This record gives sequence, C-alpha cells and structure tokens, in this order.
Amino acid sequence: MEKAIVLNIQRFSPHDGEGIRTTIFFKGCGLHCTWCHNPESQSYKKEVMVFEERCKQCGYCIEHCERNALREKEGKIVVDREKCVMCGDCVENCPYSALEMAGEYYTTDEIVTEAKKDMIIYDESNGGVTLSGGEVMSQNIDFLIELCEKLDRHGIRVNIDTCGLAPAESYRKIVRYIDTFLYDIKTINEEIHRNHIGDGLEKILDNLKLVNDLGGSINIRMPIIGGVNDSDLEIDEVLGWLIDNKISVKQINLLPYHNTGSGKYDRIGKEYKGKNLEIPSDDTMERIKNKFAESGFNNIFIGG
Ligand code: SF4
Ligand code: SF4
Repeated sequence: MEKAIVLNIQRFSPHDGEGIRTTIFFKGCGLHCTWCHNPESQSYKKEVMVFEERCKQCGYCIEHCERNALREKEGKIVVDREKCVMCGDCVENCPYSALEMAGEYYTTDEIVTEAKKDMIIYDESNGGVTLSGGEVMSQNIDFLIELCEKLDRHGIRVNIDTCGLAPAESYRKIVRYIDTFLYDIKTINEEIHRNHIGDGLEKILDNLKLVNDLGGSINIRMPIIGGVNDSDLEIDEVLGWLIDNKISVKQINLLPYHNTGSGKYDRIGKEYKGKNLEIPSDDTMERIKNKFAESGFNNIFIGG
C-alpha cells in the first residue's frame, strides 16, 4: 500500500479552519520562504534533528552509526546529511532523547485511524481534518484522493492548507472533496517572490484562479513580514489582484511574522536566512486589516 511522509499529526487544532481539527502536516515543499517557521517540513526525506540543549556529549550515537555520519565538533553533534541513510539507530540509542527523527511514513488507513480518534469533537465543533505541510498538494495526488475518500466515508470533512505550488491537475482532481482551501498568498511581486520565497509565483496565482473557477471555497492566508510585504504598495497589489481576478474569498487571515522557528534550523543543519526580517507592529496589522476591509473584504482576522 502507498505511503506518504508525514512530519506531524496535531490533534485539537483550533487554527486550521472551522471548529476543532486534526491537522496532518505532510513533509516536503517546493518553496523556501526565508521566514519559514517549520524548516523541518521542507525536505521530502526524513531528517535527524539534534537537540543540542539535551545532549550530554556521551558519544553513544557516534558509536552506533554504522555509516560514520556523526561526529562531534566544538561540543556539538553534527550529522553528515550526505552519508546519513535515516536508519534511526542513533535516535534509538541516545539515552537523553537529544536526537529525534523528523518524518514518518503513513498509509491512508493509518492517517484515518488517527483522524477518527476525535470524531465526537468534530461533530460538536463543526471541525474535521486539515491536510497541511510542507506543501500537501505536492504529495502523490492519488494518495490524497484515496485519503479524502476514506475520510468522507466516515463523514469527516477535509480542508487543505496550500501554498499553491503544485500541478494544476491535482487541484482539479481534489477540489470536489474539499470543504475549504486555506490558500497562502504572500506577495504578487515577482522580485520579492524570487528573493524570499522561490520560483513559481505564476503557477501559484494560476492555481488560485483555477480553484476559484472550479467553485472551491477559499480562505486567504497572508503572512505579513515587516520590511518585505507590509507596505501599502504591496498590500494594494495583492488586493488589486484578488479583485481583478474576482476571487471569491470567504475569510482572510493576516498572519504576523514571528521568529519562534529560527532555533529549529540548527537542529537540521540549516542556516536561518530570516535574521533581518521584522515582526510587524500591532498598528501595521490594523492598518493592513483596514485596507482589506475598505476594499470590500469581510471576515478579516489577525492571526488564526
Ligand atoms: S547519544 Fe545523545 S546525548 Fe549522547 S552524544 Fe549523542 S546526541 Fe548527545
Ligand atoms: S540515522 Fe542512521 S545513518 Fe543517520 S546518523 Fe543516525 S545512525 Fe547514522
């Protein structure tokens, strides 16, 4: 049976659509936002995470790695990601839980079993399951359709949290199973997109138009990054694009940037490139909220 790699399954989530939800975070994303607060969700492979603060430098992990992928450097355990085959022996043999494996493979049945644990809560809160990431829509679409069909058979409603970088065909296939798309729009400025997010702006916007044209229900989620996309000019461009393209938006969530994920980069041997990003002030968030309201949008929330 096909499996997909999942980073985390979060129960009792109040933030990923209506009601209380179980959010499935799939691993792997084609974008590399400088502000990403889940860098361990970017790679499509498993990764060993090193929690330096728990490490007692006993060296057991180095002894147990048959691939010689671990070494100690200046008091820290360093993973050679080229040599590591993600066998997990080091994780199992660390007596202090200083190593963890990010990513686990799940079948659709295994995910459904997890999702079914909170059926009563979904019923009472009008909640359900949210498929998120990483970029869930870049997973095998047949796997996702099978998962949606099985959840549907149990009466569990499904949302998709997407950044939009995935094949158009995948959106066409899945749209009829989805309650609400939580669709990320960060900017429509090509230069900002290239410098802070990666390639694919045109595809992301085309897919948003497609989901809209297919009748998908859309919540827009816009991360607000100080000094990147918080100016009036930037916001006006996004508003103009949504209006010009007649995107029918049910709800807007403006998500202020925070840097709480910056410490995670060290754990997987990556560099945090968002050191110069600014946390937007409350005044900035209110100003942007007002701009959306003045442009005729309803149900605008800061956060969520
Ligand atoms: S086994 Fe765990 S505590 Fe010991 S050196 Fe390795 S990571 Fe650190
Ligand atoms: S996961 Fe396996 S190969 Fe990778 S560092 Fe740990 S023991 Fe070595």
